[in-house]
Amino acid sequence: MQLTLGRYRRRGAYTGNTGNTTSQTKRKTALFSAAFLLFLCAPPLMPLGSFASGLKRETPPLSMPLESAGGGSRQEAGSLPSTLTIVAAGDNLIHDVIIREAQKEEGVYDFTLFYAPVKPLIEAADIAFINQETLLAGRRFGYSGYPRFNTPQEAGIALLDMGFDVINHANNHVMDKGEEAVFATMDFWDDRAQASYLGIRRSQEQRERPLIIEKNRITLGFLSYTYGTNGLRTPKDKPYLVSLINTEKMAEEIGALRPGCDFLVVSMHWGTEYEKAPNREQEKLAQFLARHNVDLIIGHHPHVLQPAVYLPRPDGGETLCVYSLGNFLSAQDMNAALLGGLLYVRLTKAPDGGGAVVIEQAGILPLVTHYEEGYTAFRVYPLYDYTPELAARHRNKARSDLSLSSLRALAGKAAGALLMDADPFK
Ligand SMILES: [Zn+2]
Repeated sequence: MQLTLGRYRRRGAYTGNTGNTTSQTKRKTALFSAAFLLFLCAPPLMPLGSFASGLKRETPPLSMPLESAGGGSRQEAGSLPSTLTIVAAGDNLIHDVIIREAQKEEGVYDFTLFYAPVKPLIEAADIAFINQETLLAGRRFGYSGYPRFNTPQEAGIALLDMGFDVINHANNHVMDKGEEAVFATMDFWDDRAQASYLGIRRSQEQRERPLIIEKNRITLGFLSYTYGTNGLRTPKDKPYLVSLINTEKMAEEIGALRPGCDFLVVSMHWGTEYEKAPNREQEKLAQFLARHNVDLIIGHHPHVLQPAVYLPRPDGGETLCVYSLGNFLSAQDMNAALLGGLLYVRLTKAPDGGGAVVIEQAGILPLVTHYEEGYTAFRVYPLYDYTPELAARHRNKARSDLSLSSLRALAGKAAGALLMDADPFK
């Protein structure tokens, strides 16, 4: 049974300039689901004014006949709504035992197998985001795990192989190997056009050109901030290098980007590690971002799942805030840190006029980090594909109450009404 909430959202129609657009050429398959067809049955979207006065679309009845979809493929392309799917993953936290497992021979690494079970979900999305918690600065900085990480660049290749498009580096480990390693990490991504990095920059000029991606007639804007860098200084002469949380600066950057995109995403590296609820500071910042009409907040850093909520906005819309997506991959020991989440969002843009973008469906797909005795056989599974047999082989099985049912209970508690337990692309 799929527990996903099909929620219709209205928000402001931002149709300003879309300069600095990064055109994404990668082809992905966005499957039209029955829910999308149902959306076609819905009456035309109301202008912004109607919504601002408090009107809100309800989910259409599931019994609505598909034939009333209005001619489907016979319609002109421009008269159909555009859809766009986003997935977002939490911390890709590469400990030394994961590097060891990825090593095939001296100097040769391959991380792709670890992600094989989750790859179809990343590949199927139009836009995929991840927080890359560790640097990919190259061999000359030395490979290391906790506490100051540097991961072989093959881990970045694995992210590209899965289909990630937006790679966040504004997090507390970004200064682990000094400023030169941040530049080396940017060099790595700059050599690979299929993805864009987020939250680190080479110059003030680059900071003033935030990431904008246009796909399926929908323009997404991205900003990213971290609470800090583990006490390691960011260079005074390069204030643009890493985006730190600073509400004055954030208000300025959101204000500049908001008119240029349909849907504004802000990545936040925040919160208290291993806490299953957001702290006061996260709640205050989420309210601040909602007041600035941000559409989606992607939170990470606590290493465990925290709830997702809808927050009201001054323009009458709502901000979807996922406080923490937990880990994507790590070798952490706590059972709660083995349960991450993949955020799934499907957007729809009305065919003509207004250009309003709606969150048509959103959900959290729980993920399990699997590893066996001796920290071997790392894999990231969607929870719906995880089996009692796999749970019985997990290293933590012998040391804790880990089981498929305990993971399911944990996921239910954390994801609440947004829990998704089936592949949304099928
Ligand atoms: Zn972190």
